[in-house]
Amino acid sequence: MTEQTLVLIKPDGLKKSLTGNILTRLSETKLEIVAVKITRVSRELAEEHYQQMKEKPFFKELIGYIRGELHQRHKVMAMVYWGEGAIAKVRQLTGSTNPEEADPVSIRGAYGRITTKGIYENVIHTSTDKKEAEREIKLWFSPDEIIVKNMYPIKIVEESKAKKRIWA
Ligand code: ATP
Ligand code: MG
Repeated sequence: MTEQTLVLIKPDGLKKSLTGNILTRLSETKLEIVAVKITRVSRELAEEHYQQMKEKPFFKELIGYIRGELHQRHKVMAMVYWGEGAIAKVRQLTGSTNPEEADPVSIRGAYGRITTKGIYENVIHTSTDKKEAEREIKLWFSPDEIIVKNMYPIKIVEESKAKKRIWA
């Protein structure tokens, strides 16, 4: 089944210059990248993204981590991968959440670590199922940023008096 999944290269992945290595690993899947951007992560976006972790004792640290506070990299690289079985294929290469338990040849097994404070720095986020992928892709990308048209149903709204920055 053709599906799509969200991939984030987290601030530790950017700081360790792992972008190329991670993209090379993900290219093994032969999936297509249909959206990509480098973006800052607002507190609202971070808390919405990890909404299911709200009750965890490490929630505050997790939000700080994804916002780049631990790595002086206040951004992530966000991508949508698209193709046959995309979610499972990408998740397989990602490896388990705990980098020390992850398959050593997975991305997290090879590049992740647990900090002395107990944070799992696992370099990459990937969606775990279809429902999560839909929620996350809609959170991180607008329809016009994704090259595949009508990945999810859209609606047209009229914007009046909206200001935006353009090249001078
Ligand atoms: P992600 O959602 O980032 O792809 P995941 O789906 O493998 O990771 P989740 O259970 O969704 O795992 O956890 C989200 C993030 O919270 C993890 O990537 C990790 O950074 C952190 N985390 C999860 N469990 C723990 C834990 N027990 N101790 C410390 N950090 C954790
Ligand atoms: Mg998750």
